[in-house]
Amino acid sequence: MTKTALITGITGQDGYYLSHLLLKQGYRVVGLVSPHRQPNLAKLGNLATQVEIYTVDLRDSKALLTAVEQLRPQEIYNLAAPSFVPDSWKDPLGTLDLITGTATRLLEAVRQAGLSTRFYQASSSEMFGDVSCSPQDEETPFRPKNPYAAAKLHAHWTMVHHRQRYGLFACSGILYNHESPLRPPQFVTRKVSLAAASIKLGLTQTLEMGNLDAKRDWGFAGDYVEAMWRMLQVDEPEEYAIGTGKLHSVRELVSTAFECVGLDWQKYVVINTNLLRADEHFHLVANPSKAKKNLGWEPQVSFEELLEKMVKTDMERLQNGLVIPASASSVGV
Ligand code: NAP
Repeated sequence: MTKTALITGITGQDGYYLSHLLLKQGYRVVGLVSPHRQPNLAKLGNLATQVEIYTVDLRDSKALLTAVEQLRPQEIYNLAAPSFVPDSWKDPLGTLDLITGTATRLLEAVRQAGLSTRFYQASSSEMFGDVSCSPQDEETPFRPKNPYAAAKLHAHWTMVHHRQRYGLFACSGILYNHESPLRPPQFVTRKVSLAAASIKLGLTQTLEMGNLDAKRDWGFAGDYVEAMWRMLQVDEPEEYAIGTGKLHSVRELVSTAFECVGLDWQKYVVINTNLLRADEHFHLVANPSKAKKNLGWEPQVSFEELLEKMVKTDMERLQNGLVIPASASSVGV
């Protein structure tokens, strides 16, 4: 029997890689896309003709219940979110409504439809926030520091409560930063890959950066969607911290990206003090041993391979006029 997977946030980075993985495995893939976001379907590129799209406002409980009842999906992946964390300060309520509201409405839809649908919630390492130890795992206390993280935490607990009270197969991946050539340019990895490619092609001259000593646990999105899928294939729904377990500094990020195009980063990087942020004493870095033990999951793509992919794709895009050289100064990780 062909399995149906329902995805919110299908037009995002993870939506693309997850759709690709599920289609390869023979799933029927259906994306729920809000009416006003239809133009973003173009981001699905070559997958657009292979997935089905249902136009549904994610704020509409009744419409979500109808979609779930009609499609009777075996699996739901709830990925939709305004994922650029600094933006959540501009619209805390909208962030809460989309992230927590969509998770709650979908869980309620599964419960009301009486289905045994398996549910994946896209949780985030941002929920750990102001950490008092490194690395973190599934037992580390949550201390969110921004509206995005607070909304994600509320959605996470709602998922746990629905599992405990109603016995739903609901789980979440507490995912650390994961990147790819599909990452939007306001994220630091893509800002750097785009700048390295632009400078190599003589389109821009410098790259403005903030704190080069800031460190993150960066992995490849293609590996992380594999973890999401594996969480729904095991017998017990549980939470999993998903990351590489390795920290890299922004300085390493810049030097590795520039190395990909044979340039010495120190000649091009300018420190902009307006972009400087104090770095944390403890870092956000995963202890992914539970995922390795229970899911047999391990990241396959190294930090260097990830940057190679990103810089190479940005070179090709720029040479084909498919992207504007970056000079954005607003950046987050
Ligand atoms: P992404 O590329 O920003 O994609 C986000 C998706 O959510 C897009 O399809 C976007 O639609 C949709 N969306 C945003 N605002 C919406 C709204 N108001 N109404 C309806 N849909 C909306 O994010 P991602 O990197 O794929 O991440 C997937 C999920 O994992 C997100 O929930 C994110 O918070 C979470 N996460 C990501 C990371 C990471 O490092 N990437 C780490 C931890 C957790 P449009 O295409 O129309 O904008």
